[in-house]
Order: sequence, then structure tokens, then C-alpha cells
Amino acid sequence: MFKKVLIANRGEIALRIQRACRELGIKSVVVYSEADRDAKYVRLADEAVCIGPAPSAQSYLSMPAIIATAEVTDAEAIHPGYGFLSENADFAERVERSGFTFIGPTPESIRLMGDKVSAKQAMIRAGVPCVPGSEGALPEDPKEIIKIARTVGYPVIIKAAGGGGGRGMRVVHTEAALVHAVQTTRAEAGAAFGNPEVYMEKFLENPRHVEIQVLADTFKNAVWLGERDCSMQRRHQKIIEEAPAPGIPRRNIEKVGDRCAAACKKMGYRGAGTFEFLYENGEFYFIEMNTRVQVEHPVTEMVTGIDIVQQQIKIAAGEKLPFTQRQIEMHGHAIECRINAEDPVKFVPSPGRITMWHAPGGPGVRVDSHAYTNYFVPPNYDSMIGKIIVHGDTREQALARMRIALSETVVEGIQTNIPLHRELMADAKFIEGGTSIHYLEGWMAAHKR
Ligand code: ADP
Repeated sequence: MFKKVLIANRGEIALRIQRACRELGIKSVVVYSEADRDAKYVRLADEAVCIGPAPSAQSYLSMPAIIATAEVTDAEAIHPGYGFLSENADFAERVERSGFTFIGPTPESIRLMGDKVSAKQAMIRAGVPCVPGSEGALPEDPKEIIKIARTVGYPVIIKAAGGGGGRGMRVVHTEAALVHAVQTTRAEAGAAFGNPEVYMEKFLENPRHVEIQVLADTFKNAVWLGERDCSMQRRHQKIIEEAPAPGIPRRNIEKVGDRCAAACKKMGYRGAGTFEFLYENGEFYFIEMNTRVQVEHPVTEMVTGIDIVQQQIKIAAGEKLPFTQRQIEMHGHAIECRINAEDPVKFVPSPGRITMWHAPGGPGVRVDSHAYTNYFVPPNYDSMIGKIIVHGDTREQALARMRIALSETVVEGIQTNIPLHRELMADAKFIEGGTSIHYLEGWMAAHKR
């Protein structure tokens, strides 16, 4: 096992990784920007090194600064967390070339999955069900594009091969709008992702977002750890996640889960990963794979009892998965609410000093957050300041526990989306379960938001 790991991230996930390292008896080094000097995990760290000013480009995205820190601190491995450099194949390559272990998949796997066109082709080869659409990237010829759309059937969605974070997508309802939409998306994708390639998919009208968590070691073992329903989204950003997904027959999930594990073996995938699917009318359609730990990983940890971050570290250290698929059991139900520093009605970010922070507790309640009373939420990064996760024997119990947890939580000095979560936990349709990816935006429109 490693003696020392460098954490190349910030916020709650830096703290999460630090905790995993501690439990494994590994010393950790945290890197931080000047804006994160007072973060609790920085103060509590075995070692902490300031790597630059607040803008991420000069700190959390600076590969030379991070690798140089690993060198001077004698760290053996680097955990990239999520966001920042976590899905950057060049970074993974530079880490390994500099003699460190990248806690994640190989650069080749990251590259393959980072390009959505090549990812989809790999999934088709591995027998994972995909959204019907163009075979690979769209050609230049407008006539060809029109022909492809006719076969796929309207509405279609044009997506950038290099897209991410819900950007680089355009829905097209009619043939008249098609060619222009393809050209605009291409131009935008070229500017935003440095890759103008786009592809076409059937636009599913009312799907749910259901994803499969996988773990694979370097001995050709791969397992899936159940599913998560992340349909509660605003602008393609998830805000509530749960496991298991309500109302989907277990055998449907098992079928797709087994396919994902088989695809990992076929691709020689290693580490943790997530296969994201849209689910409509009883069918799963692959949309993309995330080659890193996800924000919502705790709901899976709560129902399986498996520590995903520790497993990532163990796999990177060359250990075998300690369980087979048959040994993985799921118990009860877990729900996560992402707490964002933002106006709960208008969603404008609300950075600043937290004058009072009181986290909830009690049976089945977990809080992953780096915030505390007097913590200053910097304006430079993502607005998520923590996550409340609850577990119950049943979904009803988990919902009740989340309501209690939210009612106990006190955050003063800044605005948060906690009032929104409180309303959603009392919403009849959400309580019923199984709402689609459009539900939250419809709800907000109905509530005049
Ligand atoms: P990103 O990498 O930007 O998150 P995804 O491919 O994961 O892109 O898609 C993000 C979201 O866009 C999905 O969760 C879903 O809400 C919507 N979406 C993507 N593809 C389709 C599709 N074919 N039909 C309907 N909605 C889609």
C-alpha cells in the first residue's frame, strides 16, 4: 500500500479522500489555492502545499505545480477527485511518466471515454445498449445529415463528441432547422472543447437518468455496485440522487449492470467508473461513461457498505477486488441532496462567509462537507458546499430522515438551496418516485421560478 497520497482537488471531495487515506493508514498531502487557505481539510492535513492563486487555471488545473508538489513531498500516488484534472488523459499520462501512480483508469481508457463518439462505439462493441443515432461523427454533407436524421426520426439531439457538463447539445424538432443546428453546434464545440466533431442521437422525450457504478481491478475482475437515479436535474446538473432507482424491475437493472461489468473487462478498464444511461419505457440507453469518482458516490456506499474511494486507492496500489459480484448485497435506500451556495429561487451563486453552520445528525445521516462556522465560501469555484446523505430501510424511511436532516440544518450568512430541497422532499410526485429528467424544471416553472 502507498505510504503517501497527494490529493489534487478541493472542497468536500478533498476531505472525503483525506478521510479514506486516514482509514487506510496512508498519509496525505493536500494542494490548495490561496482562496482555500482556511479550509478545514487544509488545516487538518498531514501536509498541505499552496500551489497558486485562486483561479483554477493557475492552481487546481496546473499540472506542473501538482506534479512538482508530489515530487517534493515524496507522495507516491495522486488522487484527482472529480472535475478539474480527473478526466484529463494528458494529466494521467504525465503523472505516470513522472513516476507516480494515477488513482484512476489508464490514459487510454480516459481518452476513449472522453470522446463521446469513440465511447459510444466501444459500448456498441461491448453489447451495452445505446441511444439510436448516427454511426459515429456526422459527415459534412448536409444531404447526408438530413438522411441520417430521417432514419433516426425526429426529434433528434446534436451532441459534441468532446462535450461535458451539460454543454454542447442542441435539440432539433424539424428538418428545416437541422443543418443550421448542426453547423452552430459544431462551431460552438470547436470553440469550447477544441473538437468540432458532433454526432446525432434520437432525443428521448421523457427519460430518467439512471447510472451504474462499476469497480474494476488490474486482474480482469469487474463488478457493478447497483444503480443510482439522478433524474432530479436543473440545466443538466444533478441536485438529488438516490439508490436504488424506484420502480425499475431488478432483472432489468441486473441485465444492464452485468453488461457494464463485462464491458469493463473487455476494455481492460481499471478503477471506479460510472456508466450513465437514459431509461425510458423499460429500456436503458447508454449516454456516456465517467472515468472517475462521482459526486453522488455516497448513496451507493450507503446501500452496499463498500467504500468506493478506498477501493479506488486499493486498486491503484495493485490489490485485487475483495469481493465477487455475488457477494455484493444492497440494503435499504439512500438519498443525497447537494447543498449549493446559491439563491434557492433564482440560483445565482451566493459565496461569502458562513456565520453559522450546524450540520444534521442522527441514525442513517451522513454529511460530506468541508464547511464550518466562519468558513468563507470562495467565489472562484463550483457552488456546491456539501452533501447530506441519508439511509433508511425503505425509501419512505430515507425520505423521512432527509426531511428531519434538512430541518435540522442551519446555514447562515450565505444563501443555500436547502429551502428548495425541503420543498422537493414534500412534493407528491417526488415522493411517489420515478420522475423524469424534466420534472424539476417543470416543477420550477409551475412554482414560478
Ligand atoms: P454531459 O457530458 O454534458 O453531461 P450527457 O451526454 O451525459 O452530457 O448528457 C447530459 C444530459 O443531457 C442528460 O442527463 C440528459 O438530461 C440530456 N440528454 C443527453 N442525451 C439525450 C438524448 N439522446 N435524449 C434526451 N436527453 C438527452
